[in-house]
Amino acid sequence: MTIAQKTSQLANQVPDIDAASRGLYIDGRWNPSHGGQTIEVVDPSTGDRLASVQDATVEDARIAVEAAAAAAPSWRATPPRKRSEILRRCFELMVERSEMLATLISMENGKALRDARGEVAYAAEFFRWNAEEAVRITGEFGIAPAGTNRIIVDYQPIGICLLITPWNFPAAMATRKIAPALAAGCTVILKPASETPLTAYALAAIYEEAGVPSGVVNVITTSTPGPLTAEILADPRVRKLSFTGSTGVGRHLLAEAAKHVISCSMELGGNAPFVVFDDADLEASLDGAMIAKMRNAGEACTAANRFYVQTGIYDAFAEGLSKRMDALKVGAGIDGATECGPMITRKAVEKIGRLVEDSKTKGARVLCGGEAAEGPGFFYPPTVLVDVPTTSDMVHEEIFGPVAPLYRFESEEEAVSRANDTEYGLAAYVYTRDVGRGLRVASVLEAGMIALNRGLVSDPAAPFGGVKQSGLGREGGQHHGIAEFMEAKYIAASF
Ligand code: NAP
Repeated sequence: MTIAQKTSQLANQVPDIDAASRGLYIDGRWNPSHGGQTIEVVDPSTGDRLASVQDATVEDARIAVEAAAAAAPSWRATPPRKRSEILRRCFELMVERSEMLATLISMENGKALRDARGEVAYAAEFFRWNAEEAVRITGEFGIAPAGTNRIIVDYQPIGICLLITPWNFPAAMATRKIAPALAAGCTVILKPASETPLTAYALAAIYEEAGVPSGVVNVITTSTPGPLTAEILADPRVRKLSFTGSTGVGRHLLAEAAKHVISCSMELGGNAPFVVFDDADLEASLDGAMIAKMRNAGEACTAANRFYVQTGIYDAFAEGLSKRMDALKVGAGIDGATECGPMITRKAVEKIGRLVEDSKTKGARVLCGGEAAEGPGFFYPPTVLVDVPTTSDMVHEEIFGPVAPLYRFESEEEAVSRANDTEYGLAAYVYTRDVGRGLRVASVLEAGMIALNRGLVSDPAAPFGGVKQSGLGREGGQHHGIAEFMEAKYIAASF
Protein backbone atom coordinates (compact mmCIF):
# COMPACT_ATOMS: atom_id res chain seq x y z
CA MET A 1 0.00 0.00 0.00
CA THR A 2 1.40 3.46 -0.92
CA ILE A 3 1.65 6.26 1.61
CA ALA A 4 -1.14 8.12 -0.24
CA GLN A 5 -3.47 5.11 -0.03
CA LYS A 6 -2.67 4.60 3.62
CA THR A 7 -3.27 8.29 4.39
CA SER A 8 -6.60 8.31 2.65
CA GLN A 9 -7.63 5.09 4.40
CA LEU A 10 -6.79 6.60 7.78
CA ALA A 11 -8.41 9.94 6.86
CA ASN A 12 -11.71 8.13 6.57
CA GLN A 13 -11.37 7.08 10.19
CA VAL A 14 -11.06 10.69 11.35
CA PRO A 15 -14.46 12.29 10.75
CA ASP A 16 -13.24 15.32 12.68
CA ILE A 17 -11.37 16.51 9.59
CA ASP A 18 -14.72 17.62 8.19
CA ALA A 19 -15.83 18.97 11.54
CA ALA A 20 -12.56 20.80 11.95
CA SER A 21 -12.80 22.54 8.59
CA ARG A 22 -16.37 23.77 8.78
CA GLY A 23 -15.67 27.50 9.36
CA LEU A 24 -14.03 30.21 11.42
CA TYR A 25 -14.96 29.71 15.06
CA ILE A 26 -16.28 33.06 16.30
CA ASP A 27 -18.72 33.67 19.13
CA GLY A 28 -19.49 29.96 19.45
CA ARG A 29 -20.53 29.66 15.79
CA TRP A 30 -18.84 28.26 12.67
CA ASN A 31 -18.78 31.09 10.16
CA PRO A 32 -17.72 31.39 6.53
CA SER A 33 -15.07 34.01 5.82
CA HIS A 34 -16.21 37.41 4.55
CA GLY A 35 -13.79 37.08 1.64
CA GLY A 36 -15.20 33.72 0.56
CA GLN A 37 -11.69 32.30 0.17
CA THR A 38 -10.18 29.15 1.64
CA ILE A 39 -6.70 27.89 2.60
CA GLU A 40 -5.59 24.41 1.56
CA VAL A 41 -4.17 22.11 4.21
CA VAL A 42 -1.64 19.65 2.79
CA ASP A 43 -0.56 16.20 3.99
CA PRO A 44 3.25 16.53 4.28
CA SER A 45 3.75 12.80 3.75
CA THR A 46 2.26 12.96 0.25
CA GLY A 47 1.99 16.63 -0.71
CA ASP A 48 -1.72 16.03 -1.40
CA ARG A 49 -4.59 18.23 -0.26
CA LEU A 50 -6.08 17.10 3.05
CA ALA A 51 -8.79 19.71 3.67
CA SER A 52 -9.57 23.40 3.28
CA VAL A 53 -10.25 25.97 5.98
CA GLN A 54 -11.73 29.46 5.82
CA ASP A 55 -9.41 32.36 5.04
CA ALA A 56 -10.32 35.17 7.45
CA THR A 57 -10.29 38.82 6.38
CA VAL A 58 -9.78 41.91 8.56
CA GLU A 59 -13.58 42.16 8.74
CA ASP A 60 -13.67 38.69 10.32
CA ALA A 61 -10.92 39.78 12.71
CA ARG A 62 -13.01 42.77 13.81
CA ILE A 63 -15.99 40.48 14.45
CA ALA A 64 -13.77 38.16 16.50
CA VAL A 65 -12.63 41.09 18.67
CA GLU A 66 -16.28 42.12 19.17
CA ALA A 67 -17.12 38.57 20.27
CA ALA A 68 -14.18 38.43 22.69
CA ALA A 69 -15.13 41.87 24.07
CA ALA A 70 -18.79 40.93 24.53
CA ALA A 71 -17.87 37.74 26.40
CA ALA A 72 -15.22 39.39 28.60
CA PRO A 73 -17.31 40.86 31.46
CA SER A 74 -19.17 37.67 32.31
CA TRP A 75 -16.11 35.42 31.92
CA ARG A 76 -14.09 37.73 34.15
CA ALA A 77 -16.92 37.61 36.71
CA THR A 78 -17.28 33.82 36.53
CA PRO A 79 -16.16 32.37 39.90
CA PRO A 80 -12.66 30.87 39.73
CA ARG A 81 -14.03 27.50 40.87
CA LYS A 82 -16.43 27.44 37.90
CA ARG A 83 -13.67 28.45 35.48
CA SER A 84 -11.51 25.75 37.00
CA GLU A 85 -14.17 23.08 36.47
CA ILE A 86 -14.60 24.03 32.82
CA LEU A 87 -10.85 23.83 32.29
CA ARG A 88 -10.78 20.46 34.02
CA ARG A 89 -13.50 19.26 31.64
CA CYS A 90 -11.39 20.42 28.67
CA PHE A 91 -8.57 18.24 30.02
CA GLU A 92 -10.86 15.24 30.42
CA LEU A 93 -12.35 15.56 26.94
CA MET A 94 -8.90 15.92 25.37
CA VAL A 95 -7.79 12.74 27.13
CA GLU A 96 -10.96 10.93 25.99
CA ARG A 97 -10.42 12.06 22.39
CA SER A 98 -6.65 11.71 22.44
CA GLU A 99 -6.43 9.13 19.67
CA MET A 100 -8.52 11.24 17.30
CA LEU A 101 -6.50 14.36 18.14
CA ALA A 102 -3.18 12.55 17.73
CA THR A 103 -4.23 11.21 14.33
CA LEU A 104 -5.34 14.66 13.21
CA ILE A 105 -2.04 16.22 14.34
CA SER A 106 -0.11 13.48 12.61
CA MET A 107 -2.03 13.96 9.39
CA GLU A 108 -1.68 17.72 9.07
CA ASN A 109 1.77 18.12 10.66
CA GLY A 110 3.33 14.81 9.58
CA LYS A 111 4.85 13.95 12.96
CA ALA A 112 5.06 10.30 13.98
CA LEU A 113 1.93 9.11 15.75
CA ARG A 114 3.90 8.38 18.91
CA ASP A 115 5.10 12.02 18.98
CA ALA A 116 1.55 13.20 18.29
CA ARG A 117 0.24 11.11 21.20
CA GLY A 118 2.91 12.65 23.40
CA GLU A 119 1.87 16.11 22.26
CA VAL A 120 -1.80 15.52 23.06
CA ALA A 121 -0.93 14.34 26.57
CA TYR A 122 1.31 17.40 27.07
CA ALA A 123 -1.31 19.76 25.57
CA ALA A 124 -4.14 18.38 27.73
CA GLU A 125 -1.98 18.76 30.83
CA PHE A 126 -2.08 22.56 30.45
CA PHE A 127 -5.82 22.41 31.11
CA ARG A 128 -5.43 20.18 34.16
CA TRP A 129 -2.58 22.31 35.52
CA ASN A 130 -4.40 25.62 34.96
CA ALA A 131 -7.66 24.22 36.35
CA GLU A 132 -5.66 23.81 39.55
CA GLU A 133 -4.05 27.25 39.24
CA ALA A 134 -7.32 29.09 38.52
CA VAL A 135 -8.41 28.79 42.15
CA ARG A 136 -5.00 29.78 43.57
CA ILE A 137 -4.65 33.31 42.22
CA THR A 138 -3.83 35.34 45.30
CA GLY A 139 -3.21 39.01 46.01
CA GLU A 140 -0.98 40.85 48.49
CA PHE A 141 -1.73 42.86 51.62
CA GLY A 142 0.86 44.82 53.58
CA ILE A 143 1.60 47.98 55.46
CA ALA A 144 3.43 50.87 53.77
CA PRO A 145 6.93 51.41 55.25
CA ALA A 146 5.86 54.88 56.42
CA GLY A 147 2.97 53.32 58.32
CA THR A 148 0.54 55.71 56.66
CA ASN A 149 -1.59 53.21 54.76
CA ARG A 150 -2.06 49.64 53.66
CA ILE A 151 -0.77 48.32 50.32
CA ILE A 152 -3.24 46.03 48.61
CA VAL A 153 -2.29 44.30 45.36
CA ASP A 154 -5.05 42.72 43.34
CA TYR A 155 -4.30 40.57 40.26
CA GLN A 156 -6.83 41.11 37.50
CA PRO A 157 -7.29 39.62 34.02
CA ILE A 158 -5.30 41.68 31.54
CA GLY A 159 -8.06 41.86 28.92
CA ILE A 160 -8.57 40.49 25.41
CA CYS A 161 -5.62 38.43 24.19
CA LEU A 162 -4.38 37.71 20.70
CA LEU A 163 -2.65 34.33 20.59
CA ILE A 164 -0.55 33.32 17.58
CA THR A 165 0.86 29.80 17.28
CA PRO A 166 3.21 27.83 14.99
CA TRP A 167 2.68 24.56 13.11
CA ASN A 168 5.17 22.34 14.97
CA PHE A 169 2.96 21.68 18.03
CA PRO A 170 -0.56 22.47 16.75
CA ALA A 171 -2.26 21.43 20.01
CA ALA A 172 0.25 22.19 22.76
CA MET A 173 1.27 25.69 21.62
CA ALA A 174 -2.42 26.64 21.64
CA THR A 175 -3.39 25.09 24.99
CA ARG A 176 -0.21 26.45 26.66
CA LYS A 177 -1.70 29.91 26.03
CA ILE A 178 -5.47 29.33 26.11
CA ALA A 179 -5.56 27.45 29.42
CA PRO A 180 -3.73 30.09 31.54
CA ALA A 181 -5.52 32.95 29.75
CA LEU A 182 -8.92 31.43 30.59
CA ALA A 183 -7.81 30.58 34.12
CA ALA A 184 -6.86 34.24 34.62
CA GLY A 185 -10.28 35.36 33.34
CA CYS A 186 -9.31 36.59 29.87
CA THR A 187 -11.06 36.04 26.54
CA VAL A 188 -8.96 35.18 23.50
CA ILE A 189 -8.60 35.12 19.74
CA LEU A 190 -6.35 32.33 18.50
CA LYS A 191 -4.67 32.50 15.10
CA PRO A 192 -3.10 29.09 14.44
CA ALA A 193 -0.52 28.45 11.71
CA SER A 194 -2.02 28.00 8.26
CA GLU A 195 -0.21 24.67 7.74
CA THR A 196 -1.93 23.05 10.77
CA PRO A 197 -5.30 24.68 11.52
CA LEU A 198 -7.39 21.50 11.82
CA THR A 199 -6.22 20.62 15.31
CA ALA A 200 -7.02 24.13 16.56
CA TYR A 201 -10.57 23.88 15.22
CA ALA A 202 -11.05 20.34 16.57
CA LEU A 203 -9.98 21.66 19.98
CA ALA A 204 -12.42 24.59 19.69
CA ALA A 205 -15.26 22.07 19.41
CA ILE A 206 -13.96 20.38 22.57
CA TYR A 207 -13.84 23.67 24.51
CA GLU A 208 -17.45 24.33 23.54
CA GLU A 209 -18.51 20.87 24.67
CA ALA A 210 -16.63 21.40 27.93
CA GLY A 211 -18.73 24.50 28.66
CA VAL A 212 -16.47 27.37 27.57
CA PRO A 213 -19.05 30.10 26.84
CA SER A 214 -19.46 31.60 23.35
CA GLY A 215 -16.93 34.30 22.53
CA VAL A 216 -14.44 33.31 25.25
CA VAL A 217 -12.29 31.43 22.72
CA ASN A 218 -12.38 32.45 19.05
CA VAL A 219 -10.29 30.74 16.37
CA ILE A 220 -9.54 32.30 12.99
CA THR A 221 -7.27 31.14 10.18
CA THR A 222 -5.88 33.46 7.53
CA SER A 223 -3.43 33.62 4.65
CA THR A 224 -2.76 37.29 5.44
CA PRO A 225 -1.57 37.24 9.08
CA GLY A 226 0.18 40.63 8.86
CA PRO A 227 -2.82 42.91 8.10
CA LEU A 228 -5.14 40.78 10.21
CA THR A 229 -3.05 40.90 13.36
CA ALA A 230 -2.30 44.61 12.82
CA GLU A 231 -6.07 45.21 12.80
CA ILE A 232 -6.58 43.25 16.01
CA LEU A 233 -3.67 44.90 17.83
CA ALA A 234 -4.95 48.36 16.87
CA ASP A 235 -8.16 47.77 18.85
CA PRO A 236 -7.66 49.43 22.26
CA ARG A 237 -9.61 46.63 23.99
CA VAL A 238 -6.88 44.13 23.03
CA ARG A 239 -4.27 44.21 25.81
CA LYS A 240 -2.09 41.15 25.25
CA LEU A 241 -0.16 39.50 22.45
CA SER A 242 1.17 36.02 23.15
CA PHE A 243 3.20 34.70 20.24
CA THR A 244 5.07 31.46 19.58
CA GLY A 245 7.06 31.23 16.37
CA SER A 246 10.23 32.39 14.68
CA THR A 247 12.40 35.18 16.03
CA GLY A 248 12.00 37.10 12.75
CA VAL A 249 8.20 37.25 12.95
CA GLY A 250 8.45 37.87 16.70
CA ARG A 251 10.57 40.98 16.13
CA HIS A 252 8.03 42.26 13.60
CA LEU A 253 5.14 41.67 16.00
CA LEU A 254 6.97 43.36 18.89
CA ALA A 255 7.28 46.46 16.70
CA GLU A 256 3.59 46.26 15.79
CA ALA A 257 2.56 45.84 19.45
CA ALA A 258 4.83 48.73 20.48
CA LYS A 259 2.64 51.11 18.47
CA HIS A 260 -0.17 50.46 20.95
CA VAL A 261 1.98 49.60 24.01
CA ILE A 262 0.54 46.10 24.27
CA SER A 263 1.93 43.56 26.73
CA CYS A 264 3.86 40.84 24.86
CA SER A 265 4.89 37.28 25.65
CA MET A 266 7.25 35.91 23.03
CA GLU A 267 8.29 32.26 22.65
CA LEU A 268 10.77 32.41 19.78
CA GLY A 269 13.42 30.38 18.00
CA GLY A 270 16.20 28.31 19.53
CA ASN A 271 19.69 27.00 18.79
CA ALA A 272 20.16 24.55 21.65
CA PRO A 273 23.64 23.24 22.50
CA PHE A 274 23.92 19.62 23.69
CA VAL A 275 27.15 19.32 25.68
CA VAL A 276 28.62 15.88 26.45
CA PHE A 277 31.59 15.71 28.83
CA ASP A 278 34.08 12.81 28.81
CA ASP A 279 32.70 11.48 32.09
CA ALA A 280 29.11 11.25 30.83
CA ASP A 281 27.23 7.95 30.86
CA LEU A 282 27.52 7.15 27.14
CA GLU A 283 24.25 5.21 26.81
CA ALA A 284 22.28 7.76 28.81
CA SER A 285 23.71 10.62 26.74
CA LEU A 286 22.76 8.81 23.52
CA ASP A 287 19.24 8.17 24.83
CA GLY A 288 18.97 11.87 25.71
CA ALA A 289 20.42 12.95 22.38
CA MET A 290 17.82 10.95 20.46
CA ILE A 291 15.00 12.62 22.41
CA ALA A 292 16.49 16.10 22.27
CA LYS A 293 17.20 15.81 18.54
CA MET A 294 14.45 13.59 17.19
CA ARG A 295 11.26 14.47 19.04
CA ASN A 296 9.06 15.72 16.16
CA ALA A 297 11.83 14.76 13.71
CA GLY A 298 13.88 17.73 14.91
CA GLU A 299 11.08 20.25 14.30
CA ALA A 300 11.09 21.62 17.84
CA CYS A 301 12.27 24.95 19.22
CA THR A 302 14.06 23.03 21.98
CA ALA A 303 15.73 20.61 19.52
CA ALA A 304 19.44 20.06 20.04
CA ASN A 305 20.98 22.05 17.19
CA ARG A 306 24.69 21.76 18.05
CA PHE A 307 26.35 18.76 19.72
CA TYR A 308 29.53 19.72 21.57
CA VAL A 309 31.29 16.49 22.54
CA GLN A 310 34.53 16.30 24.53
CA THR A 311 37.47 14.65 22.76
CA GLY A 312 37.67 11.53 24.97
CA ILE A 313 34.08 10.42 24.25
CA TYR A 314 33.68 11.97 20.79
CA ASP A 315 34.25 8.88 18.60
CA ALA A 316 32.10 6.54 20.72
CA PHE A 317 29.30 9.12 20.87
CA ALA A 318 29.45 9.72 17.10
CA GLU A 319 29.34 6.01 16.34
CA GLY A 320 26.50 5.34 18.78
CA LEU A 321 24.43 8.28 17.56
CA SER A 322 24.93 7.38 13.94
CA LYS A 323 23.81 3.76 14.58
CA ARG A 324 20.65 4.93 16.32
CA MET A 325 19.80 7.61 13.78
CA ASP A 326 20.40 5.27 10.85
CA ALA A 327 18.07 2.65 12.38
CA LEU A 328 15.08 5.01 12.63
CA LYS A 329 12.10 4.12 10.49
CA VAL A 330 11.18 7.04 8.22
CA GLY A 331 7.63 7.24 6.89
CA ALA A 332 4.21 8.85 7.04
CA GLY A 333 3.43 10.04 10.55
CA ILE A 334 0.19 8.12 10.78
CA ASP A 335 1.92 4.82 10.07
CA GLY A 336 2.22 3.46 13.61
CA ALA A 337 5.72 2.07 12.94
CA THR A 338 7.13 5.46 11.86
CA GLU A 339 9.79 7.04 14.07
CA CYS A 340 10.69 10.00 11.85
CA GLY A 341 7.92 11.63 9.81
CA PRO A 342 8.17 14.13 6.96
CA MET A 343 9.13 17.79 7.31
CA ILE A 344 6.29 20.30 7.22
CA THR A 345 6.89 21.63 3.67
CA ARG A 346 9.13 21.20 0.62
CA LYS A 347 10.68 24.56 1.56
CA ALA A 348 11.72 23.14 4.94
CA VAL A 349 13.43 20.18 3.21
CA GLU A 350 15.26 22.59 0.91
CA LYS A 351 16.47 24.67 3.84
CA ILE A 352 17.84 21.59 5.64
CA GLY A 353 19.47 20.44 2.39
CA ARG A 354 21.12 23.84 1.96
CA LEU A 355 22.53 23.78 5.51
CA VAL A 356 23.88 20.24 5.11
CA GLU A 357 25.44 20.98 1.71
CA ASP A 358 27.07 24.14 3.11
CA SER A 359 28.56 22.12 5.95
CA LYS A 360 29.77 19.32 3.64
CA THR A 361 31.38 21.81 1.27
CA LYS A 362 33.26 23.30 4.21
CA GLY A 363 34.60 19.88 5.30
CA ALA A 364 31.99 18.03 7.41
CA ARG A 365 31.81 14.24 7.02
CA VAL A 366 28.47 12.42 6.72
CA LEU A 367 28.07 9.35 8.95
CA CYS A 368 24.48 8.67 7.89
CA GLY A 369 21.78 10.39 5.82
CA GLY A 370 22.83 13.65 4.22
CA GLU A 371 20.68 13.65 1.07
CA ALA A 372 17.01 14.67 0.77
CA ALA A 373 14.70 11.85 -0.28
CA GLU A 374 12.80 11.93 -3.56
CA GLY A 375 9.09 12.73 -3.26
CA PRO A 376 6.25 12.19 -2.85
CA GLY A 377 6.14 13.94 0.49
CA PHE A 378 8.66 16.17 2.20
CA PHE A 379 11.20 13.77 3.67
CA TYR A 380 14.74 14.31 4.93
CA PRO A 381 16.58 11.32 6.43
CA PRO A 382 18.08 11.23 9.94
CA THR A 383 21.60 12.58 9.45
CA VAL A 384 24.77 12.69 11.55
CA LEU A 385 27.64 15.00 10.58
CA VAL A 386 31.08 14.91 12.20
CA ASP A 387 34.05 17.28 12.09
CA VAL A 388 31.63 20.07 11.34
CA PRO A 389 33.55 23.32 10.76
CA THR A 390 32.68 26.22 13.02
CA THR A 391 32.20 28.34 9.91
CA SER A 392 29.12 26.28 8.90
CA ASP A 393 25.87 28.19 8.61
CA MET A 394 24.15 25.60 10.82
CA VAL A 395 26.22 26.77 13.80
CA HIS A 396 24.08 29.90 13.87
CA GLU A 397 20.83 28.84 12.15
CA GLU A 398 18.01 26.65 13.43
CA ILE A 399 18.17 23.42 11.40
CA PHE A 400 14.60 22.41 12.36
CA GLY A 401 15.08 18.91 11.00
CA PRO A 402 16.64 15.48 11.75
CA VAL A 403 20.28 16.56 11.40
CA ALA A 404 22.81 16.20 14.24
CA PRO A 405 26.08 18.11 13.71
CA LEU A 406 28.93 17.14 16.07
CA TYR A 407 31.67 19.53 17.17
CA ARG A 408 34.71 18.53 19.28
CA PHE A 409 35.81 20.44 22.40
CA GLU A 410 38.67 20.10 24.91
CA SER A 411 37.83 22.06 28.08
CA GLU A 412 34.80 23.10 30.13
CA GLU A 413 35.52 26.79 29.43
CA GLU A 414 35.62 26.14 25.70
CA ALA A 415 32.32 24.20 25.79
CA VAL A 416 30.55 27.00 27.69
CA SER A 417 31.91 29.76 25.51
CA ARG A 418 30.98 27.97 22.27
CA ALA A 419 27.55 26.98 23.58
CA ASN A 420 26.84 30.61 24.48
CA ASP A 421 28.07 31.96 21.14
CA THR A 422 24.59 32.49 19.69
CA GLU A 423 21.89 35.14 19.70
CA TYR A 424 19.45 32.48 20.95
CA GLY A 425 18.96 31.24 24.50
CA LEU A 426 16.02 28.84 24.78
CA ALA A 427 17.20 25.40 25.91
CA ALA A 428 20.57 23.74 26.58
CA TYR A 429 21.51 20.13 27.45
CA VAL A 430 24.43 18.95 29.57
CA TYR A 431 25.63 15.39 30.21
CA THR A 432 28.18 14.69 32.95
CA ARG A 433 28.40 12.33 35.94
CA ASP A 434 29.95 15.16 37.98
CA VAL A 435 26.91 16.87 39.50
CA GLY A 436 29.03 19.80 40.73
CA ARG A 437 30.23 20.49 37.23
CA GLY A 438 26.73 19.98 35.85
CA LEU A 439 25.28 22.63 38.13
CA ARG A 440 28.25 24.98 37.57
CA VAL A 441 27.85 24.75 33.78
CA ALA A 442 24.05 25.03 34.03
CA SER A 443 24.42 28.26 35.97
CA VAL A 444 26.54 29.96 33.28
CA LEU A 445 24.85 28.66 30.14
CA GLU A 446 22.79 31.46 28.61
CA ALA A 447 19.45 29.68 28.23
CA GLY A 448 16.05 29.88 29.88
CA MET A 449 15.94 26.10 30.37
CA ILE A 450 18.71 23.60 31.11
CA ALA A 451 18.32 19.83 30.91
CA LEU A 452 20.95 18.19 33.10
CA ASN A 453 21.42 14.51 32.19
CA ARG A 454 18.02 14.62 30.46
CA GLY A 455 16.85 14.90 26.86
CA LEU A 456 13.55 16.60 27.64
CA VAL A 457 12.75 19.82 29.54
CA SER A 458 9.11 20.65 28.73
CA ASP A 459 6.75 20.31 31.68
CA PRO A 460 3.54 22.30 32.25
CA ALA A 461 4.52 22.61 35.92
CA ALA A 462 7.81 24.38 35.05
CA PRO A 463 8.39 27.83 33.51
CA PHE A 464 9.06 27.44 29.79
CA GLY A 465 10.80 30.25 27.92
CA GLY A 466 13.99 31.72 26.62
CA VAL A 467 16.53 34.49 27.17
CA LYS A 468 18.32 36.65 24.59
CA GLN A 469 16.50 36.53 21.22
CA SER A 470 14.60 33.38 22.15
CA GLY A 471 11.88 35.34 23.83
CA LEU A 472 10.24 37.31 26.58
CA GLY A 473 8.14 35.88 29.40
CA ARG A 474 7.35 32.33 30.49
CA GLU A 475 4.59 29.79 29.86
CA GLY A 476 3.51 27.16 32.39
CA GLY A 477 5.08 26.95 35.83
CA GLN A 478 3.55 27.51 39.23
CA HIS A 479 2.50 31.11 38.68
CA HIS A 480 4.56 32.28 35.69
CA GLY A 481 2.13 31.16 32.97
CA ILE A 482 -0.95 32.78 34.52
CA ALA A 483 0.95 35.93 35.52
CA GLU A 484 1.49 36.70 31.81
CA PHE A 485 -2.29 37.13 31.52
CA MET A 486 -2.82 39.28 34.60
CA GLU A 487 -2.17 42.86 35.58
CA ALA A 488 -1.29 43.91 39.14
CA LYS A 489 -3.59 46.60 40.53
CA TYR A 490 -2.21 48.44 43.57
CA ILE A 491 -4.64 50.07 45.98
CA ALA A 492 -3.24 52.45 48.60
CA ALA A 493 -5.81 52.22 51.39
CA SER A 494 -6.16 54.29 54.52
CA PHE A 495 -8.63 53.25 57.20
P1 NAP B 1 6.54 31.55 12.03
O1 NAP B 1 6.75 31.56 10.56
O2 NAP B 1 7.11 32.66 12.83
O3 NAP B 1 4.96 31.49 12.22
C1 NAP B 1 4.37 31.42 13.52
C2 NAP B 1 2.99 32.01 13.46
O4 NAP B 1 3.09 33.39 13.12
C3 NAP B 1 2.07 31.38 12.41
O5 NAP B 1 0.77 31.34 12.92
C4 NAP B 1 2.18 32.36 11.26
O6 NAP B 1 1.06 32.35 10.41
C5 NAP B 1 2.24 33.67 12.02
N1 NAP B 1 2.79 34.77 11.24
C6 NAP B 1 3.68 34.73 10.23
N2 NAP B 1 3.91 35.99 9.77
C7 NAP B 1 3.15 36.82 10.52
C8 NAP B 1 2.94 38.24 10.53
N3 NAP B 1 3.57 39.04 9.68
N4 NAP B 1 2.09 38.74 11.43
C9 NAP B 1 1.45 37.93 12.30
N5 NAP B 1 1.59 36.60 12.35
C10 NAP B 1 2.44 36.05 11.46
O7 NAP B 1 7.06 30.23 12.71
P2 NAP B 1 6.79 28.73 12.29
O8 NAP B 1 7.60 28.43 11.07
O9 NAP B 1 5.32 28.48 12.25
O10 NAP B 1 7.36 27.92 13.55
C11 NAP B 1 8.68 27.60 13.70
C12 NAP B 1 9.39 28.58 14.61
O11 NAP B 1 8.72 28.67 15.85
C13 NAP B 1 10.80 28.15 14.95
O12 NAP B 1 11.66 29.26 14.90
C14 NAP B 1 10.68 27.61 16.37
O13 NAP B 1 11.87 27.63 17.10
C15 NAP B 1 9.64 28.52 16.92
N6 NAP B 1 8.98 27.90 18.08
C16 NAP B 1 9.25 28.40 19.32
C17 NAP B 1 8.68 27.80 20.45
C18 NAP B 1 8.99 28.32 21.83
O14 NAP B 1 8.27 27.94 22.75
N7 NAP B 1 9.98 29.16 22.03
C19 NAP B 1 7.83 26.72 20.29
C20 NAP B 1 7.57 26.24 19.02
C21 NAP B 1 8.15 26.85 17.91
P3 NAP B 1 1.11 31.54 9.02
O15 NAP B 1 1.20 30.12 9.36
O16 NAP B 1 -0.16 31.89 8.38
O17 NAP B 1 2.33 32.04 8.28
